Amino acid sequence: MAKLLEGKDVAEKIKERLKENIKSLKQAPVMASIMVGENPSAETYVRIQEKTAKDLGIVYHLHKLPENIGEEELIDFVIKLNADKAVNGIVLQQPLPKHIDYKKIVEIISAKKDIEGMHPANMGKVIFGQARIAACTATAVMELLDSTGVDLYGKEVVVVGHSEIVGKPLSLLLLERYATVTVCHIATSKAGKLEEHVRRAEVLIVAVGKAGLIKGEWIKEGAIVVDVGINCQCEKIVGDVEFEEAQKRASQITPVPGGVGPLTVAILMRNLVEAAKLQQ
Ligand code: NAP
Repeated sequence: MAKLLEGKDVAEKIKERLKENIKSLKQAPVMASIMVGENPSAETYVRIQEKTAKDLGIVYHLHKLPENIGEEELIDFVIKLNADKAVNGIVLQQPLPKHIDYKKIVEIISAKKDIEGMHPANMGKVIFGQARIAACTATAVMELLDSTGVDLYGKEVVVVGHSEIVGKPLSLLLLERYATVTVCHIATSKAGKLEEHVRRAEVLIVAVGKAGLIKGEWIKEGAIVVDVGINCQCEKIVGDVEFEEAQKRASQITPVPGGVGPLTVAILMRNLVEAAKLQQ
């Protein structure tokens, strides 16, 4: 039976270190969180962020903007936050309404205040191997892998999902450690090749959002499995990997919930503190 790879303990250690770091700053760091319209999942994330911020001594300002806000109006709002010296970090809650282009807004956020690590300048630093503020979930996966003590050098690592927030930055962070990285996506599945790639993964990371996409029997004996996926099934939350079967074959596996999730918010807070230091 695989050992459970829980994010909580790693997150607690990061938060303990952060508390010390925050004490050494001239003033408490300030996070501005932008939520456009109403959305239950965004509201859940906001509540978790608010609570974590409070526990750490971070000031959290939530800006709830109306669903029908125009793109230009939102851009003006972001520009004001960029100019506000009291604000150290900006978070743009997703999803945004369809009439707003997420990438356009992310480019407006000052790279120094982009604590989600999504600004092209911060993404570019990841390619250069000089990331100070990298995408939160991708960084959370790296922290979780590091907590296992695995040496990624030369390892066969398969990432399923190539989104901008998880798969793409994660594949770059893994390359930085000299892992042999294979990135699978929708075309891999359509070509009927997902199974063969998953079967040879010594480390498997899945970030798709489709329950049961990865069959438990595909998991290589002794593999480390990180399931980033979150899927709601009849009031139960499950990942993308068939957990029970996968647990019999893997050496370590994340539970869902309780794996990557708790770490992502800790990384967001760490990015804020890093941003505050960059601005000092
Ligand atoms: P996303 O933007 O929708 O990306 C999903 C990725 O999966 C895309 O690259 C997509 O490829 C690929 N894909 C879709 N169907 C596939 C298939 N059948 N086979 C292989 N690849 C397939 O989602 P995301 O934002 O990256 O999030 C992924 C999952 O992680 C979601 O469940 C989300 O809720 C969860 N998540 C969790 C955390 C956390 O902190 N725990 C944070 C972020 C996200 P195409 O784009 O080419 O179709």
